[in-house]
Amino acid sequence: MAIYDKDNLFAKILRGEIPCNKVYEDDYALAFHDINPQAPTHVLVIPKGEYVSWIDFSANAPADLMAGFIRAVGVAARELGLEKDGYRILANTGGDANQVVPHLHIHIFGGKNLGPMLAS
Ligand code: 5GP
Repeated sequence: MAIYDKDNLFAKILRGEIPCNKVYEDDYALAFHDINPQAPTHVLVIPKGEYVSWIDFSANAPADLMAGFIRAVGVAARELGLEKDGYRILANTGGDANQVVPHLHIHIFGGKNLGPMLAS
């Protein structure tokens, strides 16, 4: 299992050492706008815990954090006004998915028709 790097970018955002454009926060998660948006709305949701990826989180997170994190993704999308027209969520996980930041993050994309699921 990958070792969690406490100095990864999103750990620094969680600690407030790097600023973010916050959308939503609760005891379990922080949601903020992606710095390089790939859609009219592009928000990242990260759990408040040290989890490298979905692999790590789904295997090792306590049930209350899992539930709180999943709920926070839904609340953030709702507060962004995306429920009427829909949205896409995605978690790049590991090498083949080109995960860049080694702290689990769910991308929320919306604000237009997002086309096919994967670019060819
Ligand atoms: P990944 O490729 O790991 O799934 O996604 C990492 C995301 O983090 C990318 O969409 C990238 O634009 C975003 N990102 C990188 N650096 C920063 C930053 O300093 N602030 C914010 N808000 N997003 C960032």
